Amino acid sequence: MLNDVIALDKKYYMNTFGDRLPVSFTHGDGMKLYADNGDVYYDFLGGIAVNAIGHCHPDFTAALKAQIDKLIHTSSLYYIENQAKLAKKLVDNTCADKAFFCNSGAEANEGAFKLARMYFYKKGSNRSEIISLDHSFHGRTIATVAATGQEHYQAPYRPFTNGFKQVAPNSLEAVEEAITDRTAAVMVELIQGESGVYPMDTEYAKRLRQLCNDRGILMIVDEVQTGMGRTGRLFAHQLYDVEPDIFTCAKALGGGVPIGAVCAKAEVAAAFEPGDHGTTFGGNPLATAAGLAVFDIFEREKLVENSAVMGELFKRKLEHVAAKYPDKIVEVRGTGLLIGVELKPEIAPSVFRALHEKRMLTSLCKGVTIRVAPALNIKESEIDLFIKALEEIMEGEI
Ligand SMILES: *Cc1c(COP(=O)(O)O)cnc(C)c1O
Repeated sequence: MLNDVIALDKKYYMNTFGDRLPVSFTHGDGMKLYADNGDVYYDFLGGIAVNAIGHCHPDFTAALKAQIDKLIHTSSLYYIENQAKLAKKLVDNTCADKAFFCNSGAEANEGAFKLARMYFYKKGSNRSEIISLDHSFHGRTIATVAATGQEHYQAPYRPFTNGFKQVAPNSLEAVEEAITDRTAAVMVELIQGESGVYPMDTEYAKRLRQLCNDRGILMIVDEVQTGMGRTGRLFAHQLYDVEPDIFTCAKALGGGVPIGAVCAKAEVAAAFEPGDHGTTFGGNPLATAAGLAVFDIFEREKLVENSAVMGELFKRKLEHVAAKYPDKIVEVRGTGLLIGVELKPEIAPSVFRALHEKRMLTSLCKGVTIRVAPALNIKESEIDLFIKALEEIMEGEI
């Protein structure tokens, strides 16, 4: 069965993902994913920080089924109850005053760029440039690639739309030097996810907020990966105690149903007036039902709190393993349930493969860092399965 899928994929699907891991899943349940040959895997990657409530949470699937039987899509020409309610959830739980829904993280960041530009356009200012950070990841569209500070993503796709530049992360001086009278905003991930879980310093985040205030530019936080409880707070900017003018969210917001959000302070959000921005699918009744169900489950099961507690525990146990194998493990980084385990480069790919063979799903960032981003309702017993697998690998011939 797997071989049939691989043959079809190789023949008909664009080869953007190359040789994928040789497994195809048919169903899931919480932390578990079942392969078509019956093998059971533990999903420590959570669909790349998407499945915050685990796979097929019964309340989630019930909410989706109920919505599917009522209404899936109507268009933005009409009021949408779920959309308004989900916007209220985001506003009630953050420093934002307004939200706008789209379909992905990249699209949310595109919306943030447009909102920042529109904000200054409406003021009669020609500020339009966006400063972002080296080693960042902001998406796959042309503008978000232009903002993504990684040469290998950018090189084939030049020329970009003008007005994007990157500076060193965690350096206030680098941002200060880059700001000109054309700068509109600085966009940051407070914990860089895709490049291997690199947290910014708290002091950097606070001083960056102050710098943006002083220079009259906007601070945008890309919370596509860090959002929705991943770091042990609902959003990472709350962990850092800074209030961005705009933040974006996507991955976990719909529990696996595609949805993204641009969230902004009232004064900034007001720059979008009728006709200035739009979407066909964004925030449709089904996607926003998913978002509402995710919020319900978060609140009922206290998943943000669980993320903080289990994340701390997981990190401590990983650090314990790291201390035992200093010749193999370089560092453990992260907060909440977004954790990177950096390995010595010569063993990292084989550790990643060995974890996969032990049915533990993770991702390997930049060839050296094992990233885990499991469901926020993870239990200690499940964390222990991962720790046991990792210890066995460390003890063995790697
Ligand atoms: C995944 C990710 C994106 C892109 O999201 P898509 O839904 O794949 O477009 C943007 N920013 C960050 C920080 C991400 O982790």
